[in-house]
Amino acid sequence: MQLPIYLDHNATTPCDPEVLEAMLPFFVEQFGNASSKHHPYGWLAEDAVEHAREQTALLIGAKPTEIYFTSGATEAINLGIRGIMLAKERPAGKNHIVTVATEHAAVLDTVKALEQEGFTATYLPVKKDGLVDLNEVAAALTEKTALLSVMTANNETGVVQPLQEIGELARKRGVLYMTDAVQAVGKIPIKVTDMPVDLLALSAHKFYGPKGIGALYVRKGKPTFALFPLLTGGGHERGLRSGTLNVPGIVGLGKACEVAGRLIDNETRRLSNLRDTLESAILKLPGTQVNGNLQRRLPHVTNISFDGVPAKEWLIALNQKIAVSSGSACSSITERASHVLRAMGISEERGQASVRFGLGRSTTEADIAIAVQHISSTLQKLQRNPV
Ligand SMILES: *Cc1c(COP(=O)(O)O)cnc(C)c1O
Repeated sequence: MQLPIYLDHNATTPCDPEVLEAMLPFFVEQFGNASSKHHPYGWLAEDAVEHAREQTALLIGAKPTEIYFTSGATEAINLGIRGIMLAKERPAGKNHIVTVATEHAAVLDTVKALEQEGFTATYLPVKKDGLVDLNEVAAALTEKTALLSVMTANNETGVVQPLQEIGELARKRGVLYMTDAVQAVGKIPIKVTDMPVDLLALSAHKFYGPKGIGALYVRKGKPTFALFPLLTGGGHERGLRSGTLNVPGIVGLGKACEVAGRLIDNETRRLSNLRDTLESAILKLPGTQVNGNLQRRLPHVTNISFDGVPAKEWLIALNQKIAVSSGSACSSITERASHVLRAMGISEERGQASVRFGLGRSTTEADIAIAVQHISSTLQKLQRNPV
């Protein structure tokens, strides 16, 4: 089968060959359990895990002791949110969570589940460009608020929130601040040393590492109480995440962090140029519009809506040559406009015919030229009443 050109790097990325190579010894020869203290099998695995912890910490400017490995960002986010809200020593009366309407389901559904358990929540709206209004953030934080969760970069539009200002508002109010940085880590510089962020979630498969591994960063001394662990068991990861460590996955995450740190500057420049080429070519076509703030966004992403095309046929036809999606994987199943675009005030029809283009390390100039050609001819075939 001739596979389409992959322009869906926000959904997942291929594993970097260097990452795979680093992982391989830990399946067969160095297969030890990192918790085995009495023989070299265990020591080798533990050394590899601690090296990966350093690599991960280095990429985001954290200390290795602030990194907790999880099965991915969904788990890291659950651990952060539930870990704080269900903590035994959480200050009494602080039972309120503030988040944003355009967050990933991992955050929204976790907060909703906690509402069912008696916690209260505020879902902040966003402006037309996808950014939160800082006045709304300030107004939502009360003396009851325990946690504010605002993502770094949106997975559908690439819009990057003003973390610095948001974090400062949280600090002033004594509210813990968590950010889902899955789409940003390895793509734009993220240094927790410079950011008033207390917890941060990341996932290896979004930046050329393997699937099923991620991490939660927890600032040392910031939650003044121990987070509530989701899993009970052997007390791995300093009691926060029980379960035998996924050594090959952790090694892969560490390597992916190292490689990303090396490539980030060049890739940012290269991909933003390719993205701009793609975007400006598409914007010449009738009825097209970019969704989201044009300045504050990831270098490799553009979300574009197309007027007057039947959404379902449009995406099927596009995917014959380019692998793209309209918003996140879940919203393409329900065929409703994504919650992100709707929160930005985009109409149902326009939202359904929106396409997220996510470029990546393998994307070439030739790919972009083919994509533009294909989009343009497909649009000519399907567009009814271009405005
Ligand atoms: C992919 C993604 C997640 C979930 O990460 P997994 O590691 O796949 O569980 C969470 N948030 C955002 C913004 C994502 O893009």
